[in-house]
Amino acid sequence: MKKKADFIVLGRGIGALSYLFELSRSYSPLQKKKILVISAQNLAPTCSSNTTSTVSLTGIQTGVSPLGDILFHSYEHFKNIIYPEFKDSNTIEKVTKKHFFINDLEKAKKRFQNVSNLCDPYLKTAMPGVLEADSFLIYPNQYQLVLEKKIQEKLDIEFADDFILDIKTTDRFTLISKGAEYHCEFLLDARGAYQKVFENFSHQKINEKVVEGCFLEINIKLNCASFYYVFDELNLLYRSITQELIIGSSSFEGNQMIANLATLSEKYNRLKDYLNLDLPPFESFQFKSGLRSKGPKRMPKLVTKENYYRMSGLYKNAYSTAMYLSWQHLQAEIC
Ligand SMILES: Cc1cc2nc3c(=O)[nH]c(=O)nc-3n(C[C@H](O)[C@H](O)[C@H](O)COP(=O)(O)OP(=O)(O)OC[C@H]3O[C@@H](n4cnc5c(N)ncnc54)[C@H](O)[C@@H]3O)c2cc1C
Repeated sequence: MKKKADFIVLGRGIGALSYLFELSRSYSPLQKKKILVISAQNLAPTCSSNTTSTVSLTGIQTGVSPLGDILFHSYEHFKNIIYPEFKDSNTIEKVTKKHFFINDLEKAKKRFQNVSNLCDPYLKTAMPGVLEADSFLIYPNQYQLVLEKKIQEKLDIEFADDFILDIKTTDRFTLISKGAEYHCEFLLDARGAYQKVFENFSHQKINEKVVEGCFLEINIKLNCASFYYVFDELNLLYRSITQELIIGSSSFEGNQMIANLATLSEKYNRLKDYLNLDLPPFESFQFKSGLRSKGPKRMPKLVTKENYYRMSGLYKNAYSTAMYLSWQHLQAEIC
């Protein structure tokens, strides 16, 4: 089977959908083109559904590093442009992230200037911590569905489920699967970590690494509002609409993997002493993981070479950086 489109987007995760959403709001000539989105939900399950998907800006300022600048501007773009557009869709919730310090208060005071004793309806007593207003919890599957609906309202777009085995760059772009050939003038490669996993594609060298990220999740009715807590380096968050309680780790020994389960279980059980919530036993959580792409210096990128665009390195802040990079790219294109 042979199929033609003007613009093919390879991938249906947050990288691909962010680009398409920004395209649908832009003045780019690509907006009027016939678009085909190809993904392989079984062979390459999207990381964008296996994620804690929060957006916040812990201790980041502009003018310190190129990565810091991108994270800062991405957060601002998300807060001021994306959130207002989605806030009535029950797919993003604005919360105040509360970061409490149990172990090393002195170290925390050096890192954060505004540590104070915080009260909270679900805490047994006030605890030292910092507040981060305007943090966001995203309901990833619901958000992606609403994104797709908005995209479909504006663009001439079709979706296909097929696993691409190779991309040929002669005669523009030909994407080859087991039973089909897809031809296009413009190509966005948004395969996330699978760009590296299936690196045998003939036309390029991939500099990013594949990093697995994990978290623990349980569906449970807690009779409370959504929350986003960090206790030292353990994240505990609750998405009340879908009743999902999640344990993740912000950073253990500089690593983005979750801590080993024995350590985590011990930390989690200690939380029960601090919280007024009826938390479920550690053993009842489900282990979840996703593959993500980590670029040099952790930089997320949208690189372009003529009609070929590649989104890569969406590692930690994919939900905000993918939108910002797409917006930036589309702005530059029309200028
Ligand atoms: C545990 C964990 C916690 C995280 N926490 C956060 C967080 O709090 N905030 C945040 O913003 N980010 C977070 N992230 C990062 C974020 O979830 C991911 O980086 C992001 O979802 C990656 O999106 P992507 O579109 O690049 O890739 P994916 O979502 O993996 O999408 C890749 C797409 O490409 C398709 N594909 C791949 N290869 C092929 C092929 N050969 N043929 C056809 N289709 C193909 C797949 O089917 C899929 O649709 C977290 C990640 C993990 C794992």
